[in-house]
Amino acid sequence: MSVANVVVVGSGPAGYTAAIYAARAGQKPIVVAGAIDAGGALMTTTEVENFPGFPDGIQGPDLMENFRAQAEKFGTEIIFEDANKLELEGPVKRVHLDDRVLEAKTVILATGSQYRHLGVPGEDAYSGRGVSYCATCDGFFFRDKRLAVVGGGDSAMEEAIFLTRFASEVVVIHRRDELRASAIMQQRALEHPKISFVWNSEVTEMFGTASLEGVRLRDTVTGETSELAVDGVFVAIGHDPRTDLVKGQVELNQAGYIKVEEPTTVTNQPGVFACGDVVDHIYRQAITAAGTGCRAALDAQLWLELQGEDQD
Ligand code: NAP
Repeated sequence: MSVANVVVVGSGPAGYTAAIYAARAGQKPIVVAGAIDAGGALMTTTEVENFPGFPDGIQGPDLMENFRAQAEKFGTEIIFEDANKLELEGPVKRVHLDDRVLEAKTVILATGSQYRHLGVPGEDAYSGRGVSYCATCDGFFFRDKRLAVVGGGDSAMEEAIFLTRFASEVVVIHRRDELRASAIMQQRALEHPKISFVWNSEVTEMFGTASLEGVRLRDTVTGETSELAVDGVFVAIGHDPRTDLVKGQVELNQAGYIKVEEPTTVTNQPGVFACGDVVDHIYRQAITAAGTGCRAALDAQLWLELQGEDQD
């Protein structure tokens, strides 16, 4: 099997944009898109209103379908499997799939991030039985139920607003008395008749019998404890970078994100580039991820040229 010029691991806005650019540069990239989570975080989003070029908004999955089609149009091969292991050292890198190994001169890491867990008792036990991390995936199951959303950022507001389609009531639990979310999302949530807020409170336990029945809360100011009866709780407290496959092979920063030579996407491993949410813990937008995916493809192209390896 020939050695590919570019293998992209990950298929969110960063991965697919890297593929579009690499494909248009004639690199015949391969995208390892993932078996069940191809398309990345936007696949579980509803309306995307802030991606330029779509003045009327676009559904997250439709946007990712457009990304995929555009990458394929220019000759990207897309493999809907998970990468199980990466070997990134040396001139030929190896990307292990279930039953074969891809070889590549360059690898672009675009593995994104995963939902952060609270880590409280009951959270894992009731996961799928009342505890969820994705309103668009699971909200439908909670028709006319009382729900809680944990978090104070844009994700939490988005989840809460979306859940009002099904729930009788949505209670947002936030550990401070001020939201982190953008002004427009705050306003929509604060003004929504079905959404109420429990401020200065953290969840210390999730409890129930066969399924979740409520959460225990601790007031972060007074230390007082209380219980809130809910049928479901949606945890929306941010994300952690997905770096399991690359630990020990590329340098990570203190927060655990892949370290790159800003403003490039160059990692400390020659021929390995990183882009999107696995690098960015600040902006984390589809458009910024796409921008870094573009940079990764251009960086990989330059690297191949400098190695004299930009031809098949
Ligand atoms: P985020 O902005 O990091 O917010 C996380 C929230 O969870 C914060 O309010 C934080 O509280 C809280 N939190 C974190 N750890 C916690 C813990 N252990 N216990 C209780 N609460 C905890 O994450 P995000 O909301 O997922 O947003 C990430 C990025 O994606 C942001 O840049 C956001 O703008 C973007 N985004 C945009 C949209 C949109 O534009 N429609 C939608 C979703 C996400 P503190 O505030 O006290 O730190």
